[in-house]
Amino acid sequence: MSVIPLRVGATELYWLSGGDFRLDGGTMFGPVPKSLWQKKIPADADNTIPLCNDPLLIRTPTMNILVDTGLGNKLTQKQQAIFKTTSPWSLLAQLASLGLSRQDIDLVILTHGDFDHAGGVVMVDEQGRKEVTFPAATHLIQEAEWPDVISPGRRAQESYWPINFNELIKNGKIQLIQGSYQVCPEVRICHAGGHTLGHQLVEIASQGETAVHLGDLFPTHAHANPLWVMAYDNFPLEVIACKERYFAEYRKRDAWFTFYHDPLVKACKLGDKGRLTYRWPQCADHSADLFI
Ligand SMILES: [Zn+2]
Repeated sequence: MSVIPLRVGATELYWLSGGDFRLDGGTMFGPVPKSLWQKKIPADADNTIPLCNDPLLIRTPTMNILVDTGLGNKLTQKQQAIFKTTSPWSLLAQLASLGLSRQDIDLVILTHGDFDHAGGVVMVDEQGRKEVTFPAATHLIQEAEWPDVISPGRRAQESYWPINFNELIKNGKIQLIQGSYQVCPEVRICHAGGHTLGHQLVEIASQGETAVHLGDLFPTHAHANPLWVMAYDNFPLEVIACKERYFAEYRKRDAWFTFYHDPLVKACKLGDKGRLTYRWPQCADHSADLFI
């Protein structure tokens, strides 16, 4: 977890550890040749690359908001082997280190329903009982995402797991959003599509400063070229259009772009041609520049 928060006006952003895993590098870079992407994030002998699943904790003056929830603690041993998990879901311990409990999370924003983002909404306790992880929170999902949540199509079945939603539905913890919605004075969500039908972005704006969380539209800093999309993207041409639009819009506002899957860079500012002009955390170890 980042101990020092990134401050955006009156808000503080923390990256929590929702469990790390390794995925095939080819699937993360879709049409991009390996000779190019491996210069950004080198692959192991099995062709996998390291990836985080880092929920973003947004602390505003009045609310604690979580963006996505990590892998959760419900993966079977077989699933852990398939997804090559390398560190556990440790959200609750990290919240405790910030003086927060599960009950202190006021809102959960789900960018979309994939298991690596929604896996932590429902947890199992020591007796193996399932319970809503953040009982005081309303969970915000785009209405366009809902059909794949309640009745996943052939492709969504692979990554939209009912175990992650049934308990939320039973407890009435989901609020569906249409399009743009101002969550609180500093935080707005907006339907974007592209990666999935109902994928949404999160904008944090306070005291003239801005950050934007594009979720899986911009999963790591190595995806700064709008054409570098993932094999996991359901609508790749839409992803390209989204990236071009949002990169231009938020660069004008000198915004931070925050990452969910990036093992090295948690946020960056973009210059022209996908150049990173600032990165967070700032890195004194220049060997890490290999990845930029
Ligand atoms: Zn993802």
